[in-house]
Amino acid sequence: MTRPYAVVDLDGVLADVTARLHHIEGRGKDWDAFFAGIPDDPAYPEGLAIARELAAQHDLVYLSGRPERTRADTESWLRRHGAPLAPVLLRRDDDRRPSRVVKVGLLRGLAAERPVAVVVDDDPQVCRAAEAAGFQVYEATWSRPQPTLIDAQERLGKT
Ligand SMILES: [Mg+2]
Repeated sequence: MTRPYAVVDLDGVLADVTARLHHIEGRGKDWDAFFAGIPDDPAYPEGLAIARELAAQHDLVYLSGRPERTRADTESWLRRHGAPLAPVLLRRDDDRRPSRVVKVGLLRGLAAERPVAVVVDDDPQVCRAAEAAGFQVYEATWSRPQPTLIDAQERLGKT
């Protein structure tokens, strides 16, 4: 019997990116420096707990707006923090669409395979877009509002 998917975001849900946000604040955004900080992100205990809880009854999938070029650092970060083993879906390196568009597109691909029980994300725009597409959403609130990151994801389509 196949289990339904549970889809969990990374930045702001599992990973605390607060310390590297300054690289993309204001003008002269340094995306390479921003992504280079991935290995040093602290983990949110709330996010790890929810991922473990969901993994008991679902096939977990991590879905992030991070670009593919961050895959090695992202996967080793997940292992190092004891996150459940699961496939990681990332944005194509050349994809500059808003995060909510990229993510809903990937969610629809997953939903074509089998039911998606829940989508966990911290970005209100991603949450609203996923809900509008018919997905059940759990909005993660343990990371504080990060206008710079949301701006990057929604307007600049960079992460
Ligand atoms: Mg996020």
